[in-house]
Amino acid sequence: MLEFSILGKYNKEEEMISLVHFRKEIQRPIWVGAVCILLFLIMIIGMTLMTPEISLIGDQTVVININDDYTDEGAKALLNGKNISKYITVSGEVNTKQLGSYKIEYQIKYGPFKNKVSRTVIVKDMENPTITLLGDENMVMNVNDTFKEPGYKAYDNVDGDITEKVTVDGDIDTKKIGSYTLTYQVQDRFGNETSVSRNITVQDKEKPTITLSGSKSITINVNDTFKEPGYKALDNVDGDITKKVKIEGSVNTKKAGVYTLTYRVQDSSGNETSVKRSITVKEKAKVPEKTEDDGKTGVIYLTFDDGPHEGTTNVILDILKEEKVKATFFVTNNGPDSLIKRAYEEGHTVALHTATHDYAKVYASEKAYFDDLKIVHDRVQRITGEDAKIIRFPGGSSNTVSRNYSKGIMTLLVNEVVKRGYHYFDWNVSSGDAGAVHTKEKVYNNVISALSKKRANVVLMHDTKTYTRDALRDIIRYGKNHGYEFKAITYDTPMVIHRVSN
Ligand code: ZN
Repeated sequence: MLEFSILGKYNKEEEMISLVHFRKEIQRPIWVGAVCILLFLIMIIGMTLMTPEISLIGDQTVVININDDYTDEGAKALLNGKNISKYITVSGEVNTKQLGSYKIEYQIKYGPFKNKVSRTVIVKDMENPTITLLGDENMVMNVNDTFKEPGYKAYDNVDGDITEKVTVDGDIDTKKIGSYTLTYQVQDRFGNETSVSRNITVQDKEKPTITLSGSKSITINVNDTFKEPGYKALDNVDGDITKKVKIEGSVNTKKAGVYTLTYRVQDSSGNETSVKRSITVKEKAKVPEKTEDDGKTGVIYLTFDDGPHEGTTNVILDILKEEKVKATFFVTNNGPDSLIKRAYEEGHTVALHTATHDYAKVYASEKAYFDDLKIVHDRVQRITGEDAKIIRFPGGSSNTVSRNYSKGIMTLLVNEVVKRGYHYFDWNVSSGDAGAVHTKEKVYNNVISALSKKRANVVLMHDTKTYTRDALRDIIRYGKNHGYEFKAITYDTPMVIHRVSN
């Protein structure tokens, strides 16, 4: 018990001492710590107030295309709200001509305090190359022709000429009509890509052909049967298109005339071809007959071909005038207008014989004949005012020389002239003055020996010949003395014609 209390006493005392000591020890560090914290805060605030702020204007990372201009937007520096941007120093450079990544640093320094920001500028190739097509962008070509690439050029802002890298895509079937596209594509080193295209239209511009079997000009007799000799049509694309041929026109075999058949065909591209065939339906050749002339026989029609001709025609006109005889002149483009005018004014018939009298020319074709006839027709009309409709074929309708120039031309012409309103005259008395006869006596004898009272006598003479001129008066005298009547051919005079031999 005692021990316990002593111990307790001691303990109380000890407790008191250590409490005082503790108070003293604890009061000093709190004070120092507070000062330290205060100083620290002052320092933080000071530093905060004294350190400038800096910020970028614009983006932190800027990407530009190579060779483009770069303008830096800069940075902004503030100190306690005051703009001190002018103290910013910038370092770093951007080479816009060189691909790469560039760093620009902006630093602000204020007393011992500094701050900085930076920006990354990336110079890239972002531009697509270009492809330039040579030739036309829209080409048109004929089927089966060869396609020839007109060429192209590719250029890149960084790589330069990259024509070799161009790939061409697409197919053209030049054998087939249609529209085709070629695509030209190229990439630069950085994967920038360009493509252009060209359109090629393959078309068919070629006409088909029609080949006629048989002759292009066929002559048949009235009431004969006309049988189409056939034809064939070929096209460069469609091949045999004979079945597509259409025939226009028809032949009336019951009626004399010239009929035209037109064979027409179109290919699938609308190219059209036509050819013509001419079918002459003619009356059976007329046999020269004894011709009744107004019911009278014993008429002499003196006819003079190939003039007019100065020195002969004028003398012949004098004789006819003195003998009071009318005659017929089949004129050409020769001689002076005055002789045609005089013949007309003195009551003779001015008829047509063709302008050139050139067999090779006038019998080359139907068209050639009528073109030539028109020239002399117009001459006579100009001089006389008459629309002359009486004609004589050079060599007569029975001539065979025309065969050399055009087979069957006379058969065609004898019908065609009548169709066009002409009356043609051959002859049944020949003076022979165009051939071997070179004396007036022979001319005279040839004529008078052939005259007949039983018919109309159409006498062939040439007013270009002196011996004919010199035989004329005696021929007229003979006719008068033997009861013949002289007349000029008129449109109403029945035609005296030969048998056609070509
Ligand atoms: Zn003649």
